[in-house]
Amino acid sequence: MTSGAVEAARTILTRLHEVMASRSNAQSKLNNVVEVIGESLDSEVCSIYLLREGMLELFATRGLAQEAVHVTRMAVGEGLVGTIADQTGTLNLAEAAAHPDFSYRPETGEDKFHSFAGVPIVRRERAVGVLCVQHVEPRRYEEVEIEALQTVAMVLSELITNADLIDEEDARALGAGQTGPVQLHGLTLVKGLALGVAVYHQPRVTIEHVVAEDTEAERQRVIMAFERMREQIDRMSSQAEFGVGGEHEEVLETYRMFAYDEGWTRRINEAIDSGLTAEAAIERVQQRTRMRMRQIDDPLLADRMHDLEDLANRLLRIVSGQLGTAASMGLRNDAILIARNLGPAELLEYDRRRLKGVVLEEGSLTSHVVIVARAMGVPVLGRVRGLRGAVREGDQLLLDADQATCTVRPSTGSLEAFDARFAKSRERQAIYAGMRDVQPTTRDGARINVMINAGLRDDVVNLNLTGADGIGLFRTEFQFLVSATLPQREKQTRLYRDVLDAAGDRPVVFRTVDIGGDKTLPYLRHDDGEGEENPAMGWRALRVALERDGLLKVQARSLLEAAAGRKLNVMFPMVAEPWEFDAAKAVFDGQLDYLRKRKKVLPEAIRYGVMLEVPALAEQLDLLAPKIAFLSIGTNDLTQFLFAADRSNPKLAERYDWLSPAILRFLRRVVRTLDGTGVDISVCGEMGGRRLEALALLGLGIRRMSITPAAIGPIKELVGKVDLGEITKAMEGWMTSPPADMRAAMVAWAAERDIPVD
Ligand code: PEP
Ligand code: MG
Repeated sequence: MTSGAVEAARTILTRLHEVMASRSNAQSKLNNVVEVIGESLDSEVCSIYLLREGMLELFATRGLAQEAVHVTRMAVGEGLVGTIADQTGTLNLAEAAAHPDFSYRPETGEDKFHSFAGVPIVRRERAVGVLCVQHVEPRRYEEVEIEALQTVAMVLSELITNADLIDEEDARALGAGQTGPVQLHGLTLVKGLALGVAVYHQPRVTIEHVVAEDTEAERQRVIMAFERMREQIDRMSSQAEFGVGGEHEEVLETYRMFAYDEGWTRRINEAIDSGLTAEAAIERVQQRTRMRMRQIDDPLLADRMHDLEDLANRLLRIVSGQLGTAASMGLRNDAILIARNLGPAELLEYDRRRLKGVVLEEGSLTSHVVIVARAMGVPVLGRVRGLRGAVREGDQLLLDADQATCTVRPSTGSLEAFDARFAKSRERQAIYAGMRDVQPTTRDGARINVMINAGLRDDVVNLNLTGADGIGLFRTEFQFLVSATLPQREKQTRLYRDVLDAAGDRPVVFRTVDIGGDKTLPYLRHDDGEGEENPAMGWRALRVALERDGLLKVQARSLLEAAAGRKLNVMFPMVAEPWEFDAAKAVFDGQLDYLRKRKKVLPEAIRYGVMLEVPALAEQLDLLAPKIAFLSIGTNDLTQFLFAADRSNPKLAERYDWLSPAILRFLRRVVRTLDGTGVDISVCGEMGGRRLEALALLGLGIRRMSITPAAIGPIKELVGKVDLGEITKAMEGWMTSPPADMRAAMVAWAAERDIPVD
């Protein structure tokens, strides 16, 4: 803002402050407002149009015929006023009638006025009205005057809201230029359909007060808020793994650039000088930037704009003290969550009954937030470009993660089509539910073991719902993720006992904590407190457990006590070398001794196993085999290490295929190495829950799979259609001379045999 603009705005704001503080009714306040603005800007005409019943209605005017008040009405998009509202843009014209959208309203008597300037009155990023000035003499308004008008429009927004002059629902429905449906495309992360309403994980702040009582106090508030925000950004950057929500280096770099941008702070301070509160000043500057950016059509800049929006929102949240996420504010019961990205613990804070879906700008198939969402049965669409620009809080959303689309403000037609698909999907679900008691057996009579992955107490109900053969992977760290502090031994024991009770005769494989990577705990950090460059390859899982053996000891005791008199299956994650297995098992042996000495009831049998996630272990499997009862292949981590491709990096989300010969040949070698050793082998990564991939696993000799509960029905159906001999032979051929496109070759093979693989 130039000093002239600051001066002009301050003069008007001071007078407006008096108007607003007066005890008159809303209409007379509006009448006074147009007088003040008209006089201050030396304009013959000043008018305010507000949204009522979907139309922009003239609510107050100085200079136009008073008979037109509450009579002249324009549709959004109609005339100059309608265009301003429609585009949330500013118009500044020397000759109004020359503009193609000009629409003449004789009742107003506006013929003699040539120049015209108007700005939108914005509430929650939508235009709820228009403030305009007109002049006899044909001249464009000065930039200073336009800026003053924009500032005044913010004040009006507050006045209008407080006086209940507009209908919020109206505003929602007619949000500026956002009335039509928009279809967004992304990457399916968790399949499913949902119809709901957009809820931002980090809600936009609602500004309550616009005009400052004490400018100096507002300035101090902004200084403090900037300090806190910079601290936050610096902390996030120095602890990349704590980038809650998975912010990546690049984003953090941009955040830092903006957070330290002096131009930004200066503009906010100038807006405060003009008489605005800290919140209004931040929003005012943001509005201006938004308008400027809209004129530059550059996708790269648009991305940066989103970053700046995030940061401005963060600053607003700090300054206003509105810090909670949508989870802490109470979720409506048809919410579709919108975020750039989320951490698994953040997602777990949401009530799964109210959360219908998640749409992310980032995200990747095997990131833990997606695994958690899958466990919660919540569809997720990721990698949606331009998401936060296209969706506003409260928009109706039609999420079709099966087709990788999300329709914003869907048309009646697409809602009907959606209903039909929803009904079909329900039908399919019912068919799968009806397969509960089906024993998954191939056409040539091989019984395939199909188990579920679980991690939350509520997950165990899926055992009965799906008729799975057991829990092939119980991710014990989920309990740690949902707790604010390290879960006490009694609490752990209780959970494990409950899970075993629910499973009855069916086996449960408890994996010891796999913390680290993208599953960070604020209460458990590395000694030096530093972040890690590569957390996925860093201090995580068994590496943490062996170093902080107190943690593993407590967990071992809890598991042993919970399984008193029953069978216990213990699995260690991220084993890279056989000695790590020995060391972890020794911790269990120690606890077993302790319990034995105290004459406690011990488990009836304990089976120990490892996860194969680190490729190095494959080179020593023959040495490890005699010590273990089972091996479960964690294809999520294995793939990231085999391809050196971070599983939670959205840029790599679509790069490597599970059906790549590299993975399939690797798995085949593992199966062969363990052949005849008596070690049970299974796959517990997400790969096994996808039909085409599962078909490949069957062909490679895998007979046990632990998968997401929603996939049990589809996999049972697949198994029933497969001839094991046939797929084994086909896979042999493919492995000897891999086709150029393995996926396409397998799809064609399955189609010829009527095997459902989608
Ligand atoms: C895996 O890595 O494949 C696995 C099942 O473990 P998680 O996804 O929990 O890392
Ligand atoms: Mg893993």
